[in-house]
Amino acid sequence: MSDCLFCKIIAGDIPSTKLYEDDAVYAFRDINPQAPTHILVIPKAHISGCNDVTAENSALVARIFQVIPAIARAEGLTGGYRVVSNCGDDAGQTVHHLHFHILGGRKLALEMA
Ligand code: AMP
Ligand code: ZN
Repeated sequence: MSDCLFCKIIAGDIPSTKLYEDDAVYAFRDINPQAPTHILVIPKAHISGCNDVTAENSALVARIFQVIPAIARAEGLTGGYRVVSNCGDDAGQTVHHLHFHILGGRKLALEMA
């Protein structure tokens, strides 16, 4: 998608601090961190968000969840971390390319909203 921020990051048209990349998954530091460690993990294929996960593309989500623990380990998040995906306006989704936030490095508040 030519007008998608995260597709541009994957293409290298917008700079990012890359932490991980393979043929299907890309991970980079969030530009506006909400915790000492704040990483975004995204599929290279453009999927708009959780509502667009289908039987055809859900293997990509499984791949992402295989990669997440390795990234967390590499970042030293031994005490734990949170994985979040915002879906739609009420959740505050601002970038409409499926992404999973990894948040950690401090004790996170328990509330979910
Ligand atoms: P969300 O609000 O769940 O859609 O998350 C989008 C995230 O993308 C936010 O946490 C932003 O800080 C982050 N973000 C926006 N632009 C960039 C960028 N150029 N590089 C890294 N992270 C970004
Ligand atoms: Zn995209």
